[in-house]
Amino acid sequence: MSVNQQAHTGPPYGQPQPGYQGYQQPAYGGQPLPGVPQSQYGAYNGPMPGYQQPVPPQGYFPSLGFPSKGSPVSLNSDASSLAPNLIGSLRAPPTSGAPPPASATSLPSSHLAYGQFGHGDVQNGIPASAAPMQRPPASQPFLPGSAPTPVSQTSTFQQYGPPPASVQQLSNHMAGMTIGSTTASAPPPAGLGYGPPTSIPPVSGSLSATGSGLYTPYTASQGPPPTSVSQGLPLAQPPFPGQPISTQRLPTQVPGFAPPPSSTGIGPSSYPPTTGAPRPPTMPGPPLPGQMVAGPPTSQPNHVSSPPPPSATSGPHPGPPMSGLHGPPPPTHPPQPGYQMQQNGSYGQVRGPQPNYGGAYPGTPNYGSQPGQPPPPKRLDPDSIPSPIQVIEDDRSNRGSEPFVTGVRGQVPPLVTTNFLVKDQGNASPRYIRCTSYNIPCTSDMAKQSQVPLAAVIKPLATLPPEETLPYLVDHGESGPVRCNRCKAYMCPFMQFIEGGRRFQCCFCSCVTEVPPHYFQHLDHTGKRVDFYDRPELSMGSYEFLATVDYCKNNKFPSPPAFIFMIDVSYNAVKSGLVRLICEELKSLLDYLPREGNMEESAIRVGFVTYNKVLHFYNVKSSLAQPQMMVVSDVADMFVPLLDGFLVNVNESRTVIASLLDQIPEMFADTRETETVFAPVIQAGLEALKAAECAGKLFIFHTSLPIAEAPGKLKNRDDKKLINTDKEKTLFQPQTNFYNNLAKDCVAQGCCVDLFLFPNQYLDVATLGVVTYQTGGSIYKYAYFQLEIDQDRFLNDLRRDVQKEVGFDAVMRVRTSTGIRATDFFGAFYMSNTTDVEMAGLDCDKTITVEFKHDDKLSEDSGALLQCALLYTSCAGQRRLRIHNLSLNCCTQLADLYRNCETDTLINYLAKYAYRGVLGSPVKTVRDALINQCAQILACYRKNCASPSSAGQLILPECMKLLPVYLNCVLKSDVLQPGLEVTTDDRAYIRQLVTSMDVAETNVFFYPRLLPLTKADVDSDSLPAAIRNSEERLSKGDMYLLENGLNIFVWVGVNVQQGLIQNLFGVSSFSQISNASNTLPVLENPFSKKVRSIVDMLQVQRSRYMKLIIVKQEDKLEMLFKHFLVEDKSLSGGASYVDFLCHMHKEIRQLLS
Ligand SMILES: [Zn+2]
Repeated sequence: MSVNQQAHTGPPYGQPQPGYQGYQQPAYGGQPLPGVPQSQYGAYNGPMPGYQQPVPPQGYFPSLGFPSKGSPVSLNSDASSLAPNLIGSLRAPPTSGAPPPASATSLPSSHLAYGQFGHGDVQNGIPASAAPMQRPPASQPFLPGSAPTPVSQTSTFQQYGPPPASVQQLSNHMAGMTIGSTTASAPPPAGLGYGPPTSIPPVSGSLSATGSGLYTPYTASQGPPPTSVSQGLPLAQPPFPGQPISTQRLPTQVPGFAPPPSSTGIGPSSYPPTTGAPRPPTMPGPPLPGQMVAGPPTSQPNHVSSPPPPSATSGPHPGPPMSGLHGPPPPTHPPQPGYQMQQNGSYGQVRGPQPNYGGAYPGTPNYGSQPGQPPPPKRLDPDSIPSPIQVIEDDRSNRGSEPFVTGVRGQVPPLVTTNFLVKDQGNASPRYIRCTSYNIPCTSDMAKQSQVPLAAVIKPLATLPPEETLPYLVDHGESGPVRCNRCKAYMCPFMQFIEGGRRFQCCFCSCVTEVPPHYFQHLDHTGKRVDFYDRPELSMGSYEFLATVDYCKNNKFPSPPAFIFMIDVSYNAVKSGLVRLICEELKSLLDYLPREGNMEESAIRVGFVTYNKVLHFYNVKSSLAQPQMMVVSDVADMFVPLLDGFLVNVNESRTVIASLLDQIPEMFADTRETETVFAPVIQAGLEALKAAECAGKLFIFHTSLPIAEAPGKLKNRDDKKLINTDKEKTLFQPQTNFYNNLAKDCVAQGCCVDLFLFPNQYLDVATLGVVTYQTGGSIYKYAYFQLEIDQDRFLNDLRRDVQKEVGFDAVMRVRTSTGIRATDFFGAFYMSNTTDVEMAGLDCDKTITVEFKHDDKLSEDSGALLQCALLYTSCAGQRRLRIHNLSLNCCTQLADLYRNCETDTLINYLAKYAYRGVLGSPVKTVRDALINQCAQILACYRKNCASPSSAGQLILPECMKLLPVYLNCVLKSDVLQPGLEVTTDDRAYIRQLVTSMDVAETNVFFYPRLLPLTKADVDSDSLPAAIRNSEERLSKGDMYLLENGLNIFVWVGVNVQQGLIQNLFGVSSFSQISNASNTLPVLENPFSKKVRSIVDMLQVQRSRYMKLIIVKQEDKLEMLFKHFLVEDKSLSGGASYVDFLCHMHKEIRQLLS
């Protein structure tokens, strides 16, 4: 239990709701766990109840927004204005920058006594440097005469002289450090492990920029004509005869499963139960979502072990025969060097089906068993089973043209794949909150019976398309926002004003609160305040309040945050060109730091650290002619050797910073130091922010497993033998608790850690990622980083990461109306109690998934309400509250639940739930629990909502007809069933990424988008209509693009016309296409332009830059590509969609019998 979420499973049913603990209940104090210190946000109690000083009513004004929207610098324009390769092209400092206005908050905290952070008693050793130690200049204001001066004893201070001298000095310094340390560790041979493109794991990561809104619309002319959902699918009778049901909500009967002549086809009798072990009489229920997955279910004796009767097998896909594609990799294939290296972790060699993974489903012979395979029996027609593409197209046709207006309770929004506009009329936009169901069962019994998890996926700072209005900022002056006296809910459209407007009744807890005099307003004849439409908090679903000092840490308004760039300068980082690349990029990127819309320049200060086994701090104070370096070589008790001059304003220190960034690559050019530390780097950043009394973000660029002697030192514990054992979970767990404790300290300071990893071998992402994860940071991974191949991707990621909208020192609380309660949380954050989600940083791409459970009955009349309140510090240091409200319906009929579900959101929740489960349970147990829960969901529908019919029919609720196909994708994903080349680090990385993904991202991640490029209309801006992810949908004469948010594949069939090949790749034949390139050549013809514009369009939609991989049919790389054809059986043993659907049907029938 070393990752935070494990420790914070929701309290059991029946525990009093936090909001009901009486008037003393601190609003943000939550329920402190024993031993956990009270939140430092004492002020979250909010304003004292009672009358405030009258304050004139304040209007509101549009939020000034974040620079990414408000400033002319968008990511797009950035991409064009910043040359991707800045090496050698020094950028002159902008001369237009006006001198920054002096601001009290942005001044370095020079008034601080040095002893506050210097730790005079710290016993730091003698620096390993051979250079003479110097005292810092006496003029430095952070060294008051009376303060102890440990700096001069424990750190090496070096003045950068004019280049020749200082370089010499630094070289000596570096040499000295090398001698003093690991002379034995020779640098690895250059180029080792740099694989050809085959070494690309699906790890490049992606989070989409915004919610669904940015999906490029498909024009009506492009996709298939709008068809009714029921087309081609015999519809079962409406569940309740006589009950009106919209045509869109009719259940789907999968024809292949019906009608039964039971002796043929995939009928009831064709399932293996008859041949398997006797089934236990009862089916134990799956663990409830909030529970830990326990031991393997005993209910599926024939799930793994019983061989399918020959007649029951669905057989393999009769896809186009391609050599070596269905079978295991031919043993004669010598693995490519890079490919082999990629397997350093979990798979030392390409493996066959794993005992627990392969052939999991009856009717799914795994690929190793083909020789003895029976002739393919009558097969379920893939065209007759629910198609994700059809569902997506139908929703686009039906719902893409009208704006989604949020005024009505319990409305199911359009799918995330539909391009639509949102009009906020009282409920939060689906870009901020999506729910698994918009109609909640009234009782917990109903909820348990259905097994449908009740969850909301919340993205509090989501980016909106330009056509939509940002949340308004409401300023109530010194009195702050109006809140319920008891549960502290914020004023919102659902509060009921009574007694002529003098009091209001809370929609969450029913408590009646006096309206503060300054907030009083008369009611109209309908009981509505007459200023209803003038106040966002009364009429809109989402808005912001300006927070008062009561909402600030230590009752003090915060300083603007700081960014600290911390660059690994060990041998690998220098040799690969990475250090130079980062330094060159930062010179221009620092001009694009986030800023408040009305500010001329960013309020964010910056600082710089480099490190290998020791840390180098830099004084870049504007008054210096040259930057100064200070080395801290005793990493055991990290401190920051300078305060004044470490965090600076970019414009003020422009020339010094530029000089530093020029010098860093030179200083370490000849380094032979291969070892690194890691935890001390984070500690240093944390201490610097503490000393400056601000929140901020660390950007750490790191290359290797930190094996140097230091706190947080790690060992290589990767062990492929653990896969498929009960100990597999340890691969996902951090190897030491050290980082959990460090994360806690970081969260307390508002120190968010973003991690850019460049590994050439295992570096233990599961452990290194802990602080990033728990501070709300982002992790990026570029395995076998090669400058020429990977720099575009890295630089695009870095630019976006530095510029994106982010809030600091954030605390989120989700309040609910009586009857349900938030019980569990998933995402990148830290929790010290059961209710408050704390994030040192929260950016516009991060989501938090919240699960709800009943603690009382709900009523159909009042429905259920959610209010998500996020307290955070803006990039300019303004303390704000962002409020999102959502009202849901409640039902007494299960059919209403099933009619108002959203499968994409359900899958987002289930994936996060499962990915957390692997920390504590064997992977197979987690997979079985998922299958079991979904079977229960569908069985409950069949039993209670569908009309009686033969058990041989598979009847799926219309809103969930894609649940089986999507669930199968989750089960086959690399975390739960790793592909052949996936490393332990890849799995830990993906696990971490998915945990923060929104619904649009999980949707495309688990079911990638496959576009036929050769069908693209070169004269139109639109995308070609997507096709299903199956090899049999591919034609040898076409080219396809597949994207999953991490990678973009361009697949080229062997029979593609030579002209098209020439147009796209600039070569004359198929055989000349190089898959070593990860870009498409810029050619002046319509097809090339069209394909490149599609790629660019997709890149813009995602929050991470996807790696482009060119795959030729029948090439070795094709195996990687096929891993993403998720409707097919996978080489690692994952079932095909058809087979899995049969399996689900069997599970459902077992539950019903
Ligand atoms: Zn209340």
